[in-house]
Amino acid sequence: MSNATNPYQPPESEILPESGTRDAWFDGDILVVRKGGRLPTHSCLRCGAPSTRTSRRKLSWYPPFTFLAFVLLPVIGLWAFAIFVVVGLILTRSGRLEFGYCGRCRTRQRVLVTSGLAILFGGAAWAASMIEQGGNETLAFWVFGLSFAGALITIWGRRPLSIQRITSDQMRFRRVPKSVLTPGE
Ligand SMILES: [Zn+2]
Repeated sequence: MSNATNPYQPPESEILPESGTRDAWFDGDILVVRKGGRLPTHSCLRCGAPSTRTSRRKLSWYPPFTFLAFVLLPVIGLWAFAIFVVVGLILTRSGRLEFGYCGRCRTRQRVLVTSGLAILFGGAAWAASMIEQGGNETLAFWVFGLSFAGALITIWGRRPLSIQRITSDQMRFRRVPKSVLTPGE
């Protein structure tokens, strides 16, 4: 791994991907950011408009089967569900990212999170009061499901962007405008 054996080997810093920097580049439509790497913050990571603020967030990727386990819970049973969730949590990967975000996308994020939380707590309270008053149990079950959907909206809305995958050394994102890596546009 040393240059000493080959004096003609170019320094690593000159080997750049086709577009982007050593820290961040596009692999087809997927934005790849090296963990610990820096991303330009001049434009909004979501829509490409000039950014109005810089955010720093910890982002997590969960294996898709973790979510599937929730949906299939009634079919697979509690033990299989628990195993899926534990294995899913073991395989979960996180990374920190600093990025630009615009006012419009931030408002959109707030609206999603606020409505998600309202549905979550409103639904749970409604379902609980229905059960307490001995109301229709089937309806209470569906209202409880609605409340669960509120939780998912909250989690989804909080995410500043769509994560394709996070590995031990890379973070990969979907639907990021290419202008993020080209300053001055
Ligand atoms: Zn935006």
